Amino acid sequence: MSERMDLLVHGGEVLTMDASGTVVREGSVAVRDGVIVAVGADLPYETAAETVDATGCLVLPGLINTHTHLAMTMFRGRADDVDLQEFLARVIPAEAELLAPGNVAAAVRLAIAESVRAGVTSALDMYWFHEAAEQAARDAGWRLHAGPTFMDVPGPPDGRAYAERLGWARRSLEAYTPAPGTRPVVFAHSAYTLDPGQLVDIFALAREFGALIHIHASENAGEVAMVSERYGKRPVELLESLGLLGPDVLLAHAVDLTPDEIAALARTGTSTAHCPVSNLKLGCGISPVPALLDAGVTVGLGTDGAVSSNTLDLMGAIRQAALVHKAGGDPTAVNAEQAVRMATVEGARALGLADQLGSLEPGKRADLIVLDTGRPHLTPRHDPYAMLAYAAQSSDVRDTVVDGRVLMRDRVLLTLDEAAVRADLEALA
Ligand SMILES: [Zn+2]
Repeated sequence: MSERMDLLVHGGEVLTMDASGTVVREGSVAVRDGVIVAVGADLPYETAAETVDATGCLVLPGLINTHTHLAMTMFRGRADDVDLQEFLARVIPAEAELLAPGNVAAAVRLAIAESVRAGVTSALDMYWFHEAAEQAARDAGWRLHAGPTFMDVPGPPDGRAYAERLGWARRSLEAYTPAPGTRPVVFAHSAYTLDPGQLVDIFALAREFGALIHIHASENAGEVAMVSERYGKRPVELLESLGLLGPDVLLAHAVDLTPDEIAALARTGTSTAHCPVSNLKLGCGISPVPALLDAGVTVGLGTDGAVSSNTLDLMGAIRQAALVHKAGGDPTAVNAEQAVRMATVEGARALGLADQLGSLEPGKRADLIVLDTGRPHLTPRHDPYAMLAYAAQSSDVRDTVVDGRVLMRDRVLLTLDEAAVRADLEALA
């Protein structure tokens, strides 16, 4: 009967991640022009330009990495088993030496290859040379949330003096046309690399353009002590006192928080990006996610860069998020479904893009993954959320689709030459 679809993913168990948690057994997802047209069993679309047979597989929204520094794949393995301050002391000189648009593009291509393999279909990427990252992502057909970054450090890797950065960022925002499923983003590194006056100016610029603002905040006790000493306020207190919290603000980490700060995040609609693997590895502590969720704060999930967490494996972060909060003795803390939601629909909400991303519903962008469940460690199948959180591995992802385009089919990357991408990075490192 019916109009022809561009893509039909059929026969799988579809975990929609919609508000009521709909799961469709032997369901299909029909896609046209990059948009999901229908989800369900017995859809009237029998033909499509392209099909993916998901029989025996799980189909779910692509995972959303809400905090990373993609190009840091080039420094993977350079700062292990050290604290945050020593980490920065090692990474910043390496950045000064190696960062250039071509190298960033090469490192981002590797990060995209790794992410597509891990079922990650988009990421919020704070880093230098965002134009090079955006081009690499466009070329690979992958969804990147990027934009100008502010960090007032001596000898910035892009050679752009701090005094020029507001003008440069304004020009970048003026020239930016958001592709569907993206929005403008401004990255303010932190309250310890930017002073209050700089933060106020950066946030004002971002707000003029309706941009999402992403900032590291309260990553560990050392950061809180440094900011408190300088300004007499803890990082989140400082941001609130300056009027810099709100539904357009996403904090990375949010580990070291007081009950008053959690209440301030809830009151202002500020979201957080939980990065459990990075936080554990750097000994930063554990974000009070159960308290944040109880307070009604939107929490997404991130990997952080590949130096502090070594991989961009968001499935691993789902597992950590579902496990680490139970260490206090409560096995119900952050259940499997909550952890999977953080990596999908809650991540989309944290980015302010929940109307376009994060669940498989008609009208949303067609970012989805097919997970091969026909494997010993996933047998027998029970609750799909528990399977994802406690048993699945990123290598179980078989197919990855972004904006209706198949970027990985049967574990083969279709838009990146994986051998060349790896060789480029080996040559760099
Ligand atoms: Zn970070």
